[in-house]
Amino acid sequence: MNHIVGLNTFITLNLIFSKLMLCYPVRYQVIRITPRDEADVEWIHLLEERYEGKFDFWQMTRVLERPIDIMVSPKYHDLLQTLLNARGLDYVVHIPDVQGLIDNQFSAKGILDGNNGFDYSKYHTYDEIQQWVADIAAAHSDIVESFQIATSSEGRAINGLKIGKKTSGKPAVYFQGGIHAREWMSPATVMYFTNQMLETYGSDTGVTDMLDKFDWYIVPSLNVDGYVYTWSNDRMWRKTRRQEAGNRCKGIDPNRNYEYKWGGAGTSTNPCSDVYRGLSSHSEREVASSTSFLLQKKQTQDFHVFIDFHAYSQLWLLPWSYSDTALLPADTKDQDDMAKVCTDALTAVHGTKYEYGPSARKLYAASGCSADWGYATLGAKYSYVIELGDTGTHGFVMPESEIIPSGEENFAAIKKLGEIIVAEFAS
Ligand SMILES: [Zn+2]
Repeated sequence: MNHIVGLNTFITLNLIFSKLMLCYPVRYQVIRITPRDEADVEWIHLLEERYEGKFDFWQMTRVLERPIDIMVSPKYHDLLQTLLNARGLDYVVHIPDVQGLIDNQFSAKGILDGNNGFDYSKYHTYDEIQQWVADIAAAHSDIVESFQIATSSEGRAINGLKIGKKTSGKPAVYFQGGIHAREWMSPATVMYFTNQMLETYGSDTGVTDMLDKFDWYIVPSLNVDGYVYTWSNDRMWRKTRRQEAGNRCKGIDPNRNYEYKWGGAGTSTNPCSDVYRGLSSHSEREVASSTSFLLQKKQTQDFHVFIDFHAYSQLWLLPWSYSDTALLPADTKDQDDMAKVCTDALTAVHGTKYEYGPSARKLYAASGCSADWGYATLGAKYSYVIELGDTGTHGFVMPESEIIPSGEENFAAIKKLGEIIVAEFAS
């Protein structure tokens, strides 16, 4: 695992370098703020806009009871402190040493589970994930085939698995992970439960039914260029890595780039922002190609489920994302019921609590997002964004020891979802 040591050394040296150069306090920290009222929430959103690029909003909300997490570099630590003090806002240093978490993220020793030697208890590189796709397809060729959904802007293949009994015209489900590069728990969890689906096919009647009656299209890592960059350069990178001509900053937020309601609330026109929406919708190949792939499949198969796996916050989010005042979709009640039974099944495994609700009302409005497109354009009745764990203890830097528990509890949720869609659409 020399590359991991290399990554840590690289980041550590960068941080040490910035410390020496700037003589600022030592560490990247995450500051947690709990707003007192609507005016505070509004003020924090203005802060985000005004100081775009200086503070990294790990967890943002418009809902009072949810805290806001901001990662701040040593350089801007004093600025943030001064602003918060001037506002009279209480805050705590929630993660005192982000670098320490990154250093501790990898287990000293993983546990091999014997499945082609692939270790589900560890985070994997882009190459390892693509190899996993090929190996899984080969090991379960009776019910699995691999496909390439897109080529990234830097030319990398983005591969996925189509899982299910090989009969034509079946209804379908689509899952994607890793649209935001730094959310490593997403590909890790998706790969874990995908393997569980395959390992229990034929023995677990629920899973067997799910795979016999639906085709499951699963892409574990969509934003592969960003993901590679989180391993090589910047663990906290979120966006794609495409350079638009004339822009100082690279990357577009792919989850603000979908065509449906593109360009509205919760997006930025500043290329340096982490929620930069791009010059036009579907400007990112990762989004354009994956959506065309799905629309082409839709000509012969109905998609009933679309789930985009993110981290963190422990939430199942329903449409709409683009607006907190728009009339909710006709299917909200059923989407809500599904979220309830699935999160109950999830909680039953390890006691982890997930909340659920319409995205913009539960968190904040964000337009041009995947799950709105999945519902409105693809036509998937059950379209969700799932924010995996945790609730901020480790933020994006969840230790590897959390991967298997996250995989196990989410597998329980997916089995429950499978049971419901089999009953509703395929019995
Ligand atoms: Zn995300």
